[in-house]
Formats: sequence, structure tokens, C-alpha cells
Amino acid sequence: MEYAYVICPKCWDKLIKVDNIDNIDSYEQKRCSKCQTRFGLALLGEKEIDNSIYKITLRYKTALDEERVANMRKAIQKLKLDADAILNSIHVGQQGSIIYEGDIIHTYLFKKAFTGSELWIGFDIIPEFPYEIYEPDLSICPECGGEVVGRTEPYDDIKGWFLDGLFCEHCNKWTLGPTAKRDTTVYKLMFPYKKIKSMLDSSIKRGIMNRLKKVPNKRIQEEKMIVYTNSERTIEIVQCLQSVGLTYDIEPSFPHKIE
Ligand SMILES: [Zn+2]
Ligand SMILES: [Zn+2]
Repeated sequence: MEYAYVICPKCWDKLIKVDNIDNIDSYEQKRCSKCQTRFGLALLGEKEIDNSIYKITLRYKTALDEERVANMRKAIQKLKLDADAILNSIHVGQQGSIIYEGDIIHTYLFKKAFTGSELWIGFDIIPEFPYEIYEPDLSICPECGGEVVGRTEPYDDIKGWFLDGLFCEHCNKWTLGPTAKRDTTVYKLMFPYKKIKSMLDSSIKRGIMNRLKKVPNKRIQEEKMIVYTNSERTIEIVQCLQSVGLTYDIEPSFPHKIE
């Protein structure tokens, strides 16, 4: 049995148990009663949370320059932990020194504060922390504190692909990603095939025919050809059709630019 817990990614004050693991989405729609921010997934594990206390010891630290320490301080403060105490323990600590002791929520926050710093600092948790940790604050814009939205938009640099990530509409900025993502939709493209066949032989006609040969899933219906293919092939074929002034229809509506 798996257990999931959500948290307010601004107040970081308590873990709220999801009654049924299939309901995480509905919990992520609920809002914190203090700040009205949406909850986000924090922990997933095979154990219900209890009063266990975890000891966090230093495994290694290296090249902790001022900038890195400043970034750690910011991350710790954001999670409402005591940055002075933690950074001081790290500063004086040797390998194996206890840096922090806390219950499940505080161990979660500690681990989260140092996520991304693994190249220069590492810890051991005793006993082993039995949860996978998540980053619910990814749904909050680091600049304005507003909620970000998932966004997928056509990518001009790779025709037929999307850019996909998290976006703050208030700051008009990506807050996570974006990464290039293939469009996996199969599009239905219809165009007047009879007109193409009746064209005089030309490099354009041969170009269209060659491209159609590469598409396995197609059929001719009355005067039209209907092709089922991916976004990239659709663009190639449509470019040819446009160059000879032929009309076409695409279903579902085609999000990418064709020029
Ligand atoms: Zn809150
Ligand atoms: Zn913002």
C-alpha cells in the first residue's frame, strides 16, 4: 500500500494525507486555508507517517564557496527552516557529524532544501528515509509567487514539435523547461488527389508522389486522398500542396506553423 502526502508550497507547515492514492489530483486542487495556494505532492511512500525522528549526518562537503552557501541559505529559508543553525552545523561539521534532527516533515524539508546541491554536499539519513520526495513548489513562480500553468506550444526551431514546460502567465516566462517534445498526434490530412494525378509531370508532382509513398496509412476516397500521419510528414506534404495552390483539410486542428 502506498501513502501520499500533500503540502502547501508556501506555508510548508503540515503534511496532509491523501485518503486514496488515486485522488492526488483532487488534493492538488484543494487550497491552503491560510494563503489560498494550491497543495502539491510532497511525499510518497509505503509507510504511513508517524512520530519517527531522523538524524541527518554529513557525508561530504566540498568547495562550499560564498555563492553556494548563499544559495543554500535562500533554499533553507524558503522552506522556513533555521538557516543559521543548519549552516553553522555544516560549517563546523566533519564527516559523520550530526547536522540536523527532525520528524518526517522537517526531514522532508531538509532534504528538499539541499536537492540540487549534491555535487558539493551530501548527507546520510538515519534511519533511512522511507519516502520519495517531490517538489510541490514547482507550481509556484519563484519571481511573483503566482501559480504557474503547464504549457505546450508549437516549436518553431523543430517543425512539428512542441515546447513543453511550466509557465507563469503573470511574468510571461517559463519557470520550468521548456523542453522540446515530439507531437505524438496522428493527423488526418485530406486533399484533392485527382488534381495532382492530372498534373503534368514536374519536380513538384514527383515531390508530392514521393512523399506520399513514404506514408503507409492512406486511402483514396472519390477524388480525395486521405492520409494519416505525424506532424512532421503532414508539414512536408502540405508544403508541397501549398506550392501548387491546392487546398487541404487537417483534423484535428493543426497547431504547427506551415510555411
Ligand atoms: Zn499556505
Ligand atoms: Zn511569475
